[in-house]
Amino acid sequence: MRAMRTMRFQISDCRFQIGDEERKARKGRKVVFCFAVFAAFAFFTVAQPPSVLRAFGEPRRSESGGGAFRPAVTAAPQDTPDAHRAAAKAAAGREFAGLYSRVCLEPAAPASTTTAQRGQRGQPPAERQIPPRDRWYTEPVKVFDNLYFLGTKEHGSWAVATTDGIILLDALFDYAVDSEVAEGLQKLGLDPRKIKYAIMSHGHGDHDGGAKYLQDRFKARIIMGEPDWELTSRNSRDPVPQKDLVATDGQKVTLGGQTVTLYLTPGHTAGTVSTLIPVTDGGRPHVAAEWGGTAFSATTPAEQLRTYISSAQRFRDVASRAGADVIITNHTAFDGTLAKLDALKNRKPGAPHPYVLGTEGVKRYLTVAEQCAKAALASR
Ligand SMILES: [Zn+2]
Repeated sequence: MRAMRTMRFQISDCRFQIGDEERKARKGRKVVFCFAVFAAFAFFTVAQPPSVLRAFGEPRRSESGGGAFRPAVTAAPQDTPDAHRAAAKAAAGREFAGLYSRVCLEPAAPASTTTAQRGQRGQPPAERQIPPRDRWYTEPVKVFDNLYFLGTKEHGSWAVATTDGIILLDALFDYAVDSEVAEGLQKLGLDPRKIKYAIMSHGHGDHDGGAKYLQDRFKARIIMGEPDWELTSRNSRDPVPQKDLVATDGQKVTLGGQTVTLYLTPGHTAGTVSTLIPVTDGGRPHVAAEWGGTAFSATTPAEQLRTYISSAQRFRDVASRAGADVIITNHTAFDGTLAKLDALKNRKPGAPHPYVLGTEGVKRYLTVAEQCAKAALASR
């Protein structure tokens, strides 16, 4: 109807212009001109190719308000496993090949091997094996002016240093927290007794196993999503922290003038928390995003996959609006953390920061997660 009204307006407009007897000779040219105008309007208002709408500022669906759970990037692939995997692979490029491999390829493993099924059969989980230190230990690294990597070779733990103490993201396995977090901070000239908050991305032992240690030794306040406080309370393999602060969506944790923002992004677990962290590099501001829970299995229920997809889409939009241009992870394989930390050591003054990917890079990371979950869902 909008198109028809527009066309009628143009017809009357043109009739008025060509009604002058004295300009009959120019009538033909004007008719041609009016047809050109009609054709152009028909193109813009009826055909509406997406590229034209974008070029002329049509808001993306994801920015149109109330649409926090809608996709944000380009044309959607067909709803088949192969098409979603291809979209994920394209988004991953070389940078996120580890993420693509883990979430797009490994969920295809036989369902009989999953933890969920073992649990259903009532078998107790095997005792936690502590690997030899040289298999997991790696040195702490200052990555931004205010952000430090304290993880193992496999898992990420990050410290945000402020003038009033430290905000920690994730606590690693219990066996690693003392060496990597407490000693790591000291090696970097920071005081682990100043850890005020420790935010757990989710309640699995490789991320929150060290939380009880931080609570007992440094009186750190532990923050976790409500469902994951419940999840971790049932963990029989790792030390369980006493229930403390419950993360809420959009919650701001402020210390020493710095604020990190938490988002509830259920999917990997029901209480997964993702985080945005303002950082600086030589005083230049950036925003880092951490996707709190990543993997799923071949037997992850369809409803949980749908939740995961919504969370990935939503956090991609949130991160994009916040101008997030850095991805940090809690599993080093997903983004090639160890290679980036190496590159950082050899960074020449004034050279680009290996962690600064730009806002498109951050969106691509979350698109890989989203599309791999869609591939898993489409294969059901
Ligand atoms: Zn996990």
